[in-house]
Amino acid sequence: MAKVFEHPIYVTRPLLPDITDVTARIKTVWDSKQLTNFGAQHNELSDKLKVYLEVDHLSMFNNGTLALLLGLKALALTGEVITTPFTFPATVQALDWNNLTPVFCDIDPVTFNIDADKIEALITEKTSAILGVHVFGNPCDVEKIQAIADKHGLKVIYDGAHAFGSKINGIPISSFGDMTMFSFHATKLFNTIEGGALVYQDPALVKKLDLLRNFGIANSEEVVLSGLNAKLNEVQAGVGLEVLKVMDEERTKRHAVKKVYEQHLAAIEGIRVLTTLEDRASSYQYFVIEIDEAKFGKSRDDVHRELQKHNVFARKYFYPLCSDFDWYSDLPSARPENLPNGQKAVQQVLAMPYYGALSTDSVAAICGIIQELHVTQKSLSQL
Ligand SMILES: *Cc1c(COP(=O)(O)O)cnc(C)c1O
Repeated sequence: MAKVFEHPIYVTRPLLPDITDVTARIKTVWDSKQLTNFGAQHNELSDKLKVYLEVDHLSMFNNGTLALLLGLKALALTGEVITTPFTFPATVQALDWNNLTPVFCDIDPVTFNIDADKIEALITEKTSAILGVHVFGNPCDVEKIQAIADKHGLKVIYDGAHAFGSKINGIPISSFGDMTMFSFHATKLFNTIEGGALVYQDPALVKKLDLLRNFGIANSEEVVLSGLNAKLNEVQAGVGLEVLKVMDEERTKRHAVKKVYEQHLAAIEGIRVLTTLEDRASSYQYFVIEIDEAKFGKSRDDVHRELQKHNVFARKYFYPLCSDFDWYSDLPSARPENLPNGQKAVQQVLAMPYYGALSTDSVAAICGIIQELHVTQKSLSQL
């Protein structure tokens, strides 16, 4: 059988600014002889991101995971935190490293985000916070979550790693909750190779996070708390400044790719597009579909394998479900029977190749492979 694609098509490609611009930027860093510890690049990026994200308080870190880990630490949370099992391992690992116990709440079958209607039943006297994830950039039910948090005196934190630049009814997504984390990993639309940030409402956290990401060093005489090293260096920040310049163009291109996918997939029974938000509401981070085996005729794993045969590397994302990690096997909330929607989602979801340089023809051909699999299955079942 001939492969539809001769060369591999990956799920994403990093957004790479022109190398000449990056080199010039790095030359500036070299000339300054300051490579890290909050230099000119760091401060310029921080200022530009505050404008882009429309926030007052922002702290940058060397990755999103340490941002979240130290953000939870700064909020001085204790006991239990209600969160979602359908996320990237970093979300729950940031809880583990703070000695916080995750309490898994099932997800909404439409958005795949934490189901706000199931949170309240999980609150105990040990609960200190709700940690939601804006999965694939689809916003959580922020209003309902805030109402529950206010009623019970809980903090609200969002893992917004997929939601950079997105809005809810025109309001920046980071305006909701006490704190939001963004990841600047190379696979994310806005990247600093590795990097991340926290945005938050409480101005008192600025100083605290400055200390936490730099060993708790207050000045040349004093170390005032036990911190970590989580600084974003000057080369990372410089790359970020160049990526920021090409971001909006990439968003426009991804919008076009998304439209072509949607057009081709609309006709295929059993395929649902999860990432439906448009324009400023969308982060254009992923293009993700759900495959309903009963209607489509083949499972997600079948589709994943078939695409791979043709050199298309889609990704089962998120997979596996975080509540199924070995080290949570003693947690009552992690039992599969308590998380039916999460258990189902993790078997049906597939992140498709998605980046601005993906050609219209390639998207059509990828959808063609899926269509073919569906048609073949259908004619078999009619025999
Ligand atoms: C990428 C990602 C992270 C981790 O961010 P890093 O910058 O890679 O540490 C956390 N949560 C989610 C949902 C992510 O997609």
